[in-house]
Amino acid sequence: TAELPDRTQVLVIGMGQAGLSAAHHLRRRGFDTEDRLLLIDENPGPGGAWQHRWPSLTLETTNRVSDLPGWGLREALDVDAAVPAALTVPRYYGRYERRYGLRVHRPVTVERVTQPGGPGTDFLATLTAPGGAAPATVRAQAVVSATGTWDRPRRPYVPGLEGFHGRVLHSHDYTRAEDFRGARVLVIGGGISAIQHIEELASVAEVYWAARSRPDIREEEFTPEYGQAVIARVEERVRKGLPPGSVVSNTGLPRGTAAAATLCTLPACMPMFDRVGQNEVVWTGIADAAHVGRQDPRGAETVAYDWGRVPASGRLGIDVLLWATGFLHRLDHLAPLDLRTPEGGIVMDGRRATRVAANHGLQLPGYGPSASTIGANRAGRAVAREIEEYLERITPSQ
Ligand code: FAD
Repeated sequence: TAELPDRTQVLVIGMGQAGLSAAHHLRRRGFDTEDRLLLIDENPGPGGAWQHRWPSLTLETTNRVSDLPGWGLREALDVDAAVPAALTVPRYYGRYERRYGLRVHRPVTVERVTQPGGPGTDFLATLTAPGGAAPATVRAQAVVSATGTWDRPRRPYVPGLEGFHGRVLHSHDYTRAEDFRGARVLVIGGGISAIQHIEELASVAEVYWAARSRPDIREEEFTPEYGQAVIARVEERVRKGLPPGSVVSNTGLPRGTAAAATLCTLPACMPMFDRVGQNEVVWTGIADAAHVGRQDPRGAETVAYDWGRVPASGRLGIDVLLWATGFLHRLDHLAPLDLRTPEGGIVMDGRRATRVAANHGLQLPGYGPSASTIGANRAGRAVAREIEEYLERITPSQ
């Protein structure tokens, strides 16, 4: 932290897609020295969360990684779509940073952000770096917090979990199917990650699937209009201060996507179990209500999905519990600002619902409606414009 300036106009925390896009647009508006724009990231290298994705996630199996503003992935690199995204995307982001002269201080963690004088006044950020150097404080007029979700895997609690003798892990910690050879693996979750894990594990392991609600296959195909409608719904939620909701609860599994097409090849999804034993999961009282069913998403008139039957005994022996239950936004460093609504969300407004309403010097690209590479990318432009307008408002003209 030694070379960090002690003050700047705009502090950007997190250099994934959202932070890079915001930094790019701020640079274009003349924020080109560190007393105007300071970039911080906790990771040791470029790539945001992409440097940690599991090796079998490639550009072929991702939804789509959107280009950063001004210089696309395929302009920057010869892309081999079969290479892990954990290599390709960090390489792209690294080249992007160098091309645009974006100097990122890393690995540096922003531990907390305060605003002692209240909305409209300076922020104070406390930063630490590995190695035990004393924390540094940076004063900033505006903060862009683009900290993503990767570091906050959502790991639900089920009674008995602490007594389970098998292995428990989350998609966050998943490496490769081979590590599960011969094991009985229960994958939990209703989204794309769960489907990808099951498909991959099926060749080496005995795989089962459970989810809190039925896989939500939609009648519609995924089109740009479908994507826009999803974003509009999430925007509406965050404008009311509601939590944005999980990715799959917002997008469902639109017909025609790889995930929906794969469904008919997977084991039928069982309802969520009620407790965990030493070597098993247990359903209590719902076995009778569940019924057998496999849907055929290819051309079927109805895309209703019936639950798979839970074992008649109400018990299923397993060795591994794999949570594919998504991620929450990483916002712990903002806790001192007391932004949470009673519903657990944050009230957002602005052009792309990236701005914290009561606190206009703070922007959260990558949160809620902009939590995708395309959303984060678009948010960057709005963030830069709104920050510039904000700084003009709070700085008296000479
Ligand atoms: P990140 O890429 O997570 O970057 C945040 C950065 O902030 C990280 O480098 C982190 O170290 C840093 N940071 C966090 N907290 C601090 C702190 N306190 N101090 C300093 N630095 C900090 N979206 C798509 O559009 N297409 C896809 O195909 C796709 N696939 C996905 C697959 C998986 C498995 C997951 C989990 C998500 C996927 N997403 C996908 C969503 C994806 O996370 C976003 O699209 C996007 O990459 C997130 O960018 P971001 O900049 O918001 O966050």
